[in-house]
Formats: sequence, structure tokens, C-alpha cells
Amino acid sequence: MSPYPLLYGQGYFELEQISPGQRLHPKAADAFLKMCAAAQQDGITLAAYSSFRSFQTQSVIWNDKWHGKRTILDSFSQPLESGQLNNEQKLWAILRWSALPGASRHHWGSDLDFFSPALIHKNADFELIPATYLPGGSHFHVYQWVFENAAQFGFFFPYHDDVGATAPEPWHISYHPLSEQYHREHQLHELTHIIQNSDIAGKTTIMNHLAEIYQNYFNHINQL
Ligand SMILES: [Zn+2]
Repeated sequence: MSPYPLLYGQGYFELEQISPGQRLHPKAADAFLKMCAAAQQDGITLAAYSSFRSFQTQSVIWNDKWHGKRTILDSFSQPLESGQLNNEQKLWAILRWSALPGASRHHWGSDLDFFSPALIHKNADFELIPATYLPGGSHFHVYQWVFENAAQFGFFFPYHDDVGATAPEPWHISYHPLSEQYHREHQLHELTHIIQNSDIAGKTTIMNHLAEIYQNYFNHINQL
């Protein structure tokens, strides 16, 4: 078993609450709150939409999608009919937008999805999809501000460009001083052990493709 179960979303490590329901590693929290204050100076209200997630939380998302209780989106953010997919198709479709539990950067407390709560009331149809953050979307100017300023606070965009596996997530930022180390320490053999011992939906299909998943969805990111 890993000496660092927290890298796989298991066990507990120190987290700091940055807003109701949102927690980050204290160092990432500090950096993010500084960035939020700087954004506010420029008239942009910035907050975490989703931050730390445990293996358990990620499993609920994963299992719901596998069992058709939660919508699976295609590459164009359109809903797929999960009942018409075979297990392998379902696997790749879910992975496009959701990390495999145990291999999510959200387990680390270093990564978060940002949004602007100030814009949500006006845009009840807020969705965490690229169109929201692209030109013409409600969060485009927020994204632009973060894109220009994130690096000076230690953040980068691991899923900024479409590299073919994980969909582009212009809202996902990562605190590099922590996540670079966590990524290096994360091990396929430990993930294998964790998945094998979990009751995750689609386990056989996942196990058949775990090395490929690990390479294409976990290791393959945009660098700082
Ligand atoms: Zn994310």
C-alpha cells in the first residue's frame, strides 16, 4: 500500500476550507485566495466551483455515469445514451470528462475548477463545459484573467489544450509547486492495487485498460 494514500484520494491529509464545501491543501489555498484578491482588484469575482474530491466522491460520480444515473457527454458536450454503449465505449466516454477515481488530480488538494459566482445568478444555465469559458461564453473574461495571471500565483492549466484523451478544461487549474511532486510520486502499480480492491463500477473493463488509461488520461497533460 502506498505511503501516500492521499495521492489516490484515500485517507486524510490537511485541508483548508476556502469557501463553503470547498477545501484545498493549505499552500494551494493560500495561493488561490491571493489570486482571488488580485482578481477582485480587477473587478472579477473568482471562486472554486470544485476543489478537493476524495476517491469516494469521485467514485459516486463515476458509478452514477456507469449506471446511467448521471449524464455522459460526448466530445461536443452533448448527452450520450449510455444504454446504447458497450462497456468499452462507456469507459472511454466517461473518461473524456471524468477522471478515474484514484487518478484524479482533484484528490491532491492542489487542483480546482474555478468559476465566478457573481455570474451564476444571471446565468442560471451555468454549465462546466468549454463553451461557457470560450469567446461568447459567460465566463470568457474570467478565464482570460486567470489565463493571464495564474502563473504568477503558481497555477497552470493541465487540461488546457485538447490532447485527445481528457477533454479541454479551461476551468481547471493546478498549483504547480505541489502537484508536480504529487504527479511524480503517483504510481500505476499502487493505483492498480486500489482499483482492484475497490467496488468501482466497470472494474473488469477498467482493469483491462488500466495502463492505457494511466498513460493517456493521467500522465498526458499540458505542462506548465
Ligand atoms: Zn477539474
